[in-house]
Amino acid sequence: MSKKYGIVIDVAKCTGCYACFLACKDENCGEAHPGYTEAQPMTGQYWLNITEVERGTFPKVKISHIPKLCNHCDNPGCMQMAENGAVYKRDDGIVIIDPEKAVGQKQIVNTCPYRVIFWNEEKQLPQKCDLCAHFLDQGFEKPRCVEMCPTGALVFGDLNDPNSEISKLVAEKKPYPLRPEFELGDNVLYLNVPKKFITGTVIYKDTDQCAKDVKVTLKGNGVEQSLETDVFGDFWFEGLESKTDYTVEIEAEGYKKVCLQARTMKDVDLGEIFLEK
Ligand code: SF4
Ligand code: SF4
Repeated sequence: MSKKYGIVIDVAKCTGCYACFLACKDENCGEAHPGYTEAQPMTGQYWLNITEVERGTFPKVKISHIPKLCNHCDNPGCMQMAENGAVYKRDDGIVIIDPEKAVGQKQIVNTCPYRVIFWNEEKQLPQKCDLCAHFLDQGFEKPRCVEMCPTGALVFGDLNDPNSEISKLVAEKKPYPLRPEFELGDNVLYLNVPKKFITGTVIYKDTDQCAKDVKVTLKGNGVEQSLETDVFGDFWFEGLESKTDYTVEIEAEGYKKVCLQARTMKDVDLGEIFLEK
């Protein structure tokens, strides 16, 4: 069986350090890889880009970083509008825009719903990530972005090899496409893409102290989960579905139970919640 290269991106492990972004720039800016890609211009193109997602409202704010690149899809939209075989998929799954055949084919840019194809005005050429195919073909094990990630947020490998790290990760964690509704057969898959959260701060009314280690239970959407407040009396329920009704129950020995309702139209901060005797 031939190889099928892919990447799993664990958003929870991404710190937004931009090492992957810079590695891509270092490998491709101002340097052509004949037969693979023209040089990436020094400005205006981001073959691997990082989207910063800010959620919640002060003081309960969370920031996530989502690296985005070409997904080297099984059903690549970008191939459909390309003339003359200017976009093709290699046997190992890498989708390449031929830097000679694609000259003048600006229509290719708009065929990717992920918007990861860029137009090089000077060269009249559509361009995107080629998963460092020139690098892999020389025998290197990983694209530069994966090689440089210090946190292990990017795992690259052969999805057709059941013993590869990426295949084991796929089997265990079940990563998913960033936008499954596009139905492109993505081979860059994600874990822990942020969803909605419900948070709050529990305080003992009689002492005005933060209520540490208090049991908080979330019910809704067919699930029930419990956790304990941290040293600040805070609790966070992460990974919740949007537009869903939840009930939050707070229980501490010697205090009245508190029940609150929350609807995840956006991230929800229930604010300060006082426990009374
Ligand atoms: S992500 Fe876009 S550019 Fe990459 S293969 Fe899929 S359709 Fe083509
Ligand atoms: S190198 Fe790794 S941790 Fe840094 S931004 Fe890229 S994916 Fe995130």
